[in-house]
Amino acid sequence: MKCIRLLGSLIASLALVVGAHGQTLSKPQTVKINDRVYVLLGPIQHANRLNQGYMVNSTVIVGDKGVILVDSGGTDEVGRHIATAVRRITDKPVTHVVNTHHHGDHYLGNVAFTGATFISSEMCRKMVLETGREWLEIMEQAIGRKLPATKPLAAEVTYAEGTRTETVIGGVRIVFWVPRGSHTAGDLLVHLPDDKVLIAGDVLVSGVVPTLQDGFLKNWIRTLDEIRALDVTHFVPGHGNIMTARDVIALRDAMNRFYLGIREGYRKDQTEAEIRRSMDLSIWDKLERSYVIGRNINRAFLEVEADSFDEATIKGVRSH
Ligand SMILES: [Zn+2]
Repeated sequence: MKCIRLLGSLIASLALVVGAHGQTLSKPQTVKINDRVYVLLGPIQHANRLNQGYMVNSTVIVGDKGVILVDSGGTDEVGRHIATAVRRITDKPVTHVVNTHHHGDHYLGNVAFTGATFISSEMCRKMVLETGREWLEIMEQAIGRKLPATKPLAAEVTYAEGTRTETVIGGVRIVFWVPRGSHTAGDLLVHLPDDKVLIAGDVLVSGVVPTLQDGFLKNWIRTLDEIRALDVTHFVPGHGNIMTARDVIALRDAMNRFYLGIREGYRKDQTEAEIRRSMDLSIWDKLERSYVIGRNINRAFLEVEADSFDEATIKGVRSH
């Protein structure tokens, strides 16, 4: 028993890297999908003093001459930590960094990759310019220290909403897909058709409750329908383990039930509190970050309410 405990703590200490501030960053779990695509699975808890803002998955796509990295982490230090993990895979430089959306944990590490070409959706760029300082403050507060070297860098290469653009970078065929705003108004998904891989940012999550705070539930469910129709074997979420098509369908169905539950409550004139009590939320309750459920209900309720106003307006116009 003692021996097992000792072994456990030895493994734990090997998995940690001490940062400049004395805190520790977990070493990512590296999953090799094929000879040129690797996923760095980060911790899944929200940003806190312990993880120092490292709580995101990054994907390493090794091209002919350089690396295309998807999602750079939540601080300059996390960015460098991810850069170190990339160097364990290849000595090629990171030439491109893709930001899947404007939430700080996914892109505030951009500063560690200056010189690379940054890519995002058009809307993500706009949101980074508008909310970058705010996200930096959120991160500083969550991890308990100032981040003087972290700068919100917006991407210079951008793609418009509703587009799918196929390109080849370093010999790798890549489709940049900007669906209608789902997890945020500016999601960018990265599809590697030859590798049968989709990197979805937080449009997909595994083991954590999806965060709807900046999202659009009905669009999101539609996007999940489009995702599951792709010829893909590895679905890389923004947080949590790599997913299968079956996992995507389960997430889609859970989110659809969530939407229908709220709509039903709204139609019965229930308050948000009553809806929360009457819905079966057990599937979400047991996951990480279950504290977002209340906010999700609030956001979905507002969406249902706005839709019902729209429907009423349309009916009103028709009756005239
Ligand atoms: Zn997010």
